[in-house]
Amino acid sequence: MEKILEKSIVKGGGFLFNHPHFSEIFIPEEFNDEQKMMAKATQDFIDKEVFPFVERIDALEEGFMSSIMTKAGDLGLLGVCIPEQYGGLGMSFNTGMLIADIVASTGSFTTAFGAHTGIGTLPILYYGDDAQKEKYLPNLSSGEWKACYCLTEPDSGSDANAAKTKAVLSEDKQHYFISGQKMWISNAGFADLFIVFAKIEDDKNLTAFIVEKSFGGITMNDEERKMGIKGSSTRQVFFNETKVPVENMLSNRQNGFKIAVNILNIGRIKLGCGVINACKQIANQSTQYANDRKQFGVSISSFGAIKQKLSQMAAKTFGIESASYRAGQNIDDQVDFLIAQGHPEHEAKLQGVEQFAIEAAIIKVHGSDVLNEIADQGVQVYGGMGFSEEAPMARAYRDARIAKIYEGTNEINRILLVGMIIKKIAKGEFNLKDELDFFKIGMVHKGTFDAAPLSKEYKAIKNLKKATLMITSKALEIYDVKINEEQEILINISEMIIETYVAESTLLRTLKLIDQSVENSANLFINLTKLYLFDAVRKSKNAGYEALACMIDDEAHLDSLLKVMDRLTNYNHLNTSRLSRDIADEMILQNKFPYTLYS
Ligand SMILES: Cc1cc2nc3c(=O)[nH]c(=O)nc-3n(C[C@H](O)[C@H](O)[C@H](O)COP(=O)(O)OP(=O)(O)OC[C@H]3O[C@@H](n4cnc5c(N)ncnc54)[C@H](O)[C@@H]3O)c2cc1C
Repeated sequence: MEKILEKSIVKGGGFLFNHPHFSEIFIPEEFNDEQKMMAKATQDFIDKEVFPFVERIDALEEGFMSSIMTKAGDLGLLGVCIPEQYGGLGMSFNTGMLIADIVASTGSFTTAFGAHTGIGTLPILYYGDDAQKEKYLPNLSSGEWKACYCLTEPDSGSDANAAKTKAVLSEDKQHYFISGQKMWISNAGFADLFIVFAKIEDDKNLTAFIVEKSFGGITMNDEERKMGIKGSSTRQVFFNETKVPVENMLSNRQNGFKIAVNILNIGRIKLGCGVINACKQIANQSTQYANDRKQFGVSISSFGAIKQKLSQMAAKTFGIESASYRAGQNIDDQVDFLIAQGHPEHEAKLQGVEQFAIEAAIIKVHGSDVLNEIADQGVQVYGGMGFSEEAPMARAYRDARIAKIYEGTNEINRILLVGMIIKKIAKGEFNLKDELDFFKIGMVHKGTFDAAPLSKEYKAIKNLKKATLMITSKALEIYDVKINEEQEILINISEMIIETYVAESTLLRTLKLIDQSVENSANLFINLTKLYLFDAVRKSKNAGYEALACMIDDEAHLDSLLKVMDRLTNYNHLNTSRLSRDIADEMILQNKFPYTLYS
């Protein structure tokens, strides 16, 4: 209990204003035996039931994806975070993230799995009343029923609350008749249950409904012909006066938009975490290909240019993995804390995720960007074969792209996350002025520790925070509430926030591992941290420069601030070739990603 109370002080977005000790964060090496067993069972499942059948999945063979989902349900994988009383396994949020991570390498199945277990099931879990939970959750958890989520429409995507689908109350007040057109609905082709967002009369906000396929009045277009995740069912769905009992309204009238936003918060952190195993798989395949492929009489893995790509794959995967599980555990701790304070479980779970909505957006944007970068590098390592459907990279590349678009586009998430931090500053939750004074006066933060052997990196990350806050403060000083209209600047600030969070997560994880005496792999983790940080500082510096130049016309003033940026992003004395070669050599030797968490 004491531990929970102590940990619960962590606030969403607080990482920018504090300097946590490594003992305060969770690292994936700390997963317990039960969690590792779940990870292993999930890996075994996808090895046996998904990978051998990717061609059949991609061909959208009738009933095939649905049958795999049923098998996942038989194993309990569809109900990992559903309480046992509703037929689930009742495991933690971070365990749910872990399963999403492992499933990530399966492309189309990842989307089907995520749409069912996330956006399809969670609205009922978090907002359903007891009767709705008892009626639907056991079927969804077992996989007997498959779910989908119908929010997007032809004219309302990012602007989801502008949806036009209507729900009209029947004269006897026993039913709503839902009519409208939904678009891009994952799992629609085989779903038994539809979470539908519609407007009642001239309401400003949406209302959510649980709609069973058997209610009738549902028609669909053919499957969309997509760039990637070709085996995932995606259809337009038409509701034609679909008759829905009033008791199937979820939560209250006009609460639908809030439900949509909160569920997407959860969906997006799992989506961001749900790239990790895909990244590892691409790194594994790229390493193996690079070792096998000979040019100029040697394996291409002996070339520095290839080593650079392999090491970047490892460092970036290490980054998103460190950040994801740090945030996931923060959510679990917050939930435990709220439950201990007497909040009902479902409310505590929602508030836990809401508290870390900034981190959720960071992980969604960063995870999807990283997966795309790694897939692109994978294609390049394979050369011409990277462009061939005979090799795995073409599919990996195509499948990766969607992650930057759905569950809130990356632009929307970037703008959102900076907006949330600014709101917290405005509400007095964080004190920007204090932090900046601290920096001007050159005081040392309470809790500052000796971060050897990564002291230089610890300082670099503290400086990244200062740089990010300095630019945020400047933007607020110049634009005040009109900062919302300066999206280009917000995007640059988001880049700095994201890179700072991820870089810090890698650093703290490595320090914790060193503290736990991880024998011979400490050097690898130190190298991964340094390589990640080098790139993070470079990106942050560019973003900071650009933001300042967009804000300030006076050249002398701009020059003085650019100089401050230079000082705060001074992490240059690093031989990245040596680092990159050290990491890649380990991969080349092992013929795979350089470390294993769950075997
Ligand atoms: C394969 C696939 C599966 C999907 N599955 C589902 C599902 O199961 N259920 C569901 O409801 N939806 C689903 N979607 C829809 C998805 O969530 C939307 O496509 C996404 O939210 C973007 O909406 P949009 O396509 O209308 O793009 P738009 O909103 O038109 O955006 C187009 C561009 O404009 C930018 N933009 C829009 N508004 C702003 C703004 N205010 N500021 C800055 N930039 C902005 C966007 O970032 C983007 O770059 C899916 C989509 C795809 C492609």
